Amino acid sequence: MNKQLEFLIMLHDLDLLLDEINHEKKAGFEIKKHKEELQTAREKVKKGLEVILSNKYERLSKRYGKAIVPVIDGICYGCFVTLPSAFVVRKNKNEEVSTCQNCGRFIYWFED
Ligand SMILES: [Zn+2]
Repeated sequence: MNKQLEFLIMLHDLDLLLDEINHEKKAGFEIKKHKEELQTAREKVKKGLEVILSNKYERLSKRYGKAIVPVIDGICYGCFVTLPSAFVVRKNKNEEVSTCQNCGRFIYWFED
């Protein structure tokens, strides 16, 4: 898998974890510590991304919540539109960073 694509997925996972921790009711010391660790990890992953991609990621997550979504059987699971078959049948799709032609979210492919 493309390294940049891996970083995008990681960034997304960290954002989900941060989201979870932000909704944590008890705001104890441990929680605060975990939150700081997550934020540090997030910065680290973000630094590994090309600026153009990290900017786009931030823009998309503000707009949609989820900036990167899976494509399974040619369907984008962000907007639920079927992607053009010429786009879907290409080989090694996870070797490059691509976006949904309908909603613009970053996508990664389930390839069986
Ligand atoms: Zn889409």
